[in-house]
Amino acid sequence: MTRTGLQGLIVTHLPDLRYLSGFTGSSAALAVTRRTARLFTDGRYTTQAKEEVKSAQVEIVSGPPAVAAVQWLAAQPGVDFAGFDPAFTTVADLARWKAALPSRLRRSLLSAIAAPLVEPLRLVKDEEELAIMKEAAQLGCALFDHILTFLRPGLREIEVAAELEHQARLLGAEGMSFDTIVASGPRSALPHGHATQARLPRRGFLTLDFGIILKGYCSDMTRTIHFGTPKAQERDAYQAVLEAQQAAVAAVSAGVRCEEVDEAARGVLRRAGLADAFTHSTGHGVGLEIHESPRVGAGQTARLLPGMVITIEPGIYLPGRFGIRIEDMVAVNRNGGQVLTPAPKALIEL
Ligand code: ZN
Ligand code: ZN
Repeated sequence: MTRTGLQGLIVTHLPDLRYLSGFTGSSAALAVTRRTARLFTDGRYTTQAKEEVKSAQVEIVSGPPAVAAVQWLAAQPGVDFAGFDPAFTTVADLARWKAALPSRLRRSLLSAIAAPLVEPLRLVKDEEELAIMKEAAQLGCALFDHILTFLRPGLREIEVAAELEHQARLLGAEGMSFDTIVASGPRSALPHGHATQARLPRRGFLTLDFGIILKGYCSDMTRTIHFGTPKAQERDAYQAVLEAQQAAVAAVSAGVRCEEVDEAARGVLRRAGLADAFTHSTGHGVGLEIHESPRVGAGQTARLLPGMVITIEPGIYLPGRFGIRIEDMVAVNRNGGQVLTPAPKALIEL
C-alpha cells in the first residue's frame, strides 16, 4: 500500500479476504489502512468470525458489509484516498458505496487500483500452504486409484463422477474444486466435457479431470485412460501428449518464463503434427482458487517464482474422434519443479 501510495484498501474478493484474514464465510468485506484492518460481516458469522479472524478487528453489521467497510475507511484519520480492485467490483457496487459516503468524499475517496495487490501475495505459497496443497493433491491421487477399481464399460459418466465425489467426501475433502469432468469416447474431444448420461464405451478413451478442496486449497489433476486396446494412432497420440506433459514439467523452474514452459509442451505436439489439436494453454496457477495467476501459456512473459503451484496440462482434441489430456500439479522450486500428483501416467488399458 505504501508503494502504491494507498492510504486505504477495500477487499471484497472472498479468496483474497480469506488469505489476509482467515475468514471463511461467504459474506464479508475487509477494510485495510496502513495501521490497522477491520473485517465487516453479518450476524450469521458472529461466532465464526471471532474464531477465524486474528489479524483484524471484527464488526458485525446489518447492512451490506462492503458499504460499512467503505464508510469506516472514510472515517479513519489520514485516509483521504482508498483503493478497490476493479476486477471484483461491479458498477452497481461502486454506485452503492459512493452513495453511502458524505458528498464531499464521493469523488475523491475511492479509486480503482492499477494492479492487484493481494493476488501477488497469494501466488507464492508458504510452507504451510504447500503442505496443505500436497495433502490435497495426494487425496486426488488416492481418488484416482480408487476410481480405477470402479470403472467398467457400460457405467454412466455421472455414476463415475458421483462415485469420485462421494469418495472425496469420505476421504476428507470439503468439496470439489470444480464440476468433475468425465468425458468418454468421442466426448473426450471436449476439453471441458462435464459428466453426462453417456455410457463408458467398450473401446475408447476416458478423460477424468477433477479436484478437491482441503482447508480451502484446491487440487487439480487429469488422467486419460483407455478401454480396450488402442489403435496405433491412438497410442501414438497418447505418447505425444505424455511426452509434451513431461517436457513441460521438466521445464519448470524458478526464473523460467511461463511461455517457455508452454513452448516445451507445444513444441513436442507440433513435432508430432498435433499443434492444431492443442487448443488451450499449458497450465494455470492453483491455490485458494482453482484458476489463479500465473497463466502458463504462449506469450506469457511472467517468470515462475519459488513457491508457486501451477498445473501442467497439455491436451489434444480431435472432434468426433477422441481427446487426451494429462495434468499434474507442480510446485516451483529454485532449481526445478516438484510434481504433487504422482499418479501413474503411462497409458492404462482397462
Ligand atoms: Zn484440471
Ligand atoms: Zn487445471
